[in-house]
Amino acid sequence: EAKESGKRRYCTFDESMAEKVHERLRLEQRLRQAVKEQHFTLHYQPLIRVEDSVLIGFEALLRWQDGGQDIPPAIFIPVAEECGLIQEIGSWVLQQACIEAQRWNTTFHYPLKVAVNVSVMQFVEADFRQRVAAELEHSGLPPHLLELEITESVLQSLEDSKRILKELKAVGVSVAIDDFGTGYSSMAVLKDLAVDRLKIDRSFICNTPALMQDSAVCKAIIMLAKSLMLGITAEGVEEMEQVAFLRENGCDTFQGYFYSRPLDAAALEHYLQQYFSTQNSSPTPSKTRA
Ligand code: C2E
Ligand code: MG
Ligand code: MG
Ligand code: MG
Repeated sequence: EAKESGKRRYCTFDESMAEKVHERLRLEQRLRQAVKEQHFTLHYQPLIRVEDSVLIGFEALLRWQDGGQDIPPAIFIPVAEECGLIQEIGSWVLQQACIEAQRWNTTFHYPLKVAVNVSVMQFVEADFRQRVAAELEHSGLPPHLLELEITESVLQSLEDSKRILKELKAVGVSVAIDDFGTGYSSMAVLKDLAVDRLKIDRSFICNTPALMQDSAVCKAIIMLAKSLMLGITAEGVEEMEQVAFLRENGCDTFQGYFYSRPLDAAALEHYLQQYFSTQNSSPTPSKTRA
């Protein structure tokens, strides 16, 4: 009897495995279809300067609506990476984000930057630098208004990454290390890299300042960034207490639901209209207001 139930359990396990494989294949198929038919959109989340709460730009975040259902990037980006679709998707993101950012800048006569997430597989492509340069030229967006977000995983092929980062620096864009603190980059590695900014991972922000350990990690990352003369962004800022703590400890940029969720095209339009109708639209409003 024990043997039988054991068998049955094994059988159930097997079926659920098969189901998972099947689901994964369907997702891949739908993703291929979505690439072909351009079913993607970008949402934009505001980046806020800590010093004076001024809007400095947006992070572009990819969205996929599959038959009325939103599939989160945390689900489909890894699949796109595995099945070799990320390069094509990533190129589209880069192109759209540059065009959109240049549109804000010409509409509002105000320099807003756009931050674009770049998968490691795009980053190490032989023509990545040319692609970036081409999209800047095509859109007319000034290079210093484009920030590329890479994760610590690119540091695994360190020598290549160093070279690519130098090439990107020559193009004039800036580079941020996203989700900082979750990967393996050592300080020794960091000091030799031509990066401009660290983004503290949301997992450290969410229990700050309530949890002493998380607050300590945030403080340490901020200090590290400042010592290396890098910019420092806190992502996932949701509460007033976090704003106060991070401001006190020297963070320079905020991103999170406390300020705004990522905005779709219509919401973004509204946000920008609102923002520029209530703000003095000079590039240094804090100074002109004083
Ligand atoms: P990320 O680059 O670290 O982006 C920040 C994520 O945190 C976004 O999730 C954003 O919606 C979320 N977030 C921002 N503020 C808050 C907050 O206050 N509270 C909470 N709970 N969440 C907040 P999203 O849009 O689901 O993206 C997840 C990840 O998918 C991104 O993390 C990024 O790694 C990846 N991703 C998104 N778009 C792209 C893309 O175009 N290309 C690539 N390669 N990856 C992308
Ligand atoms: Mg990011
Ligand atoms: Mg991030
Ligand atoms: Mg993150």
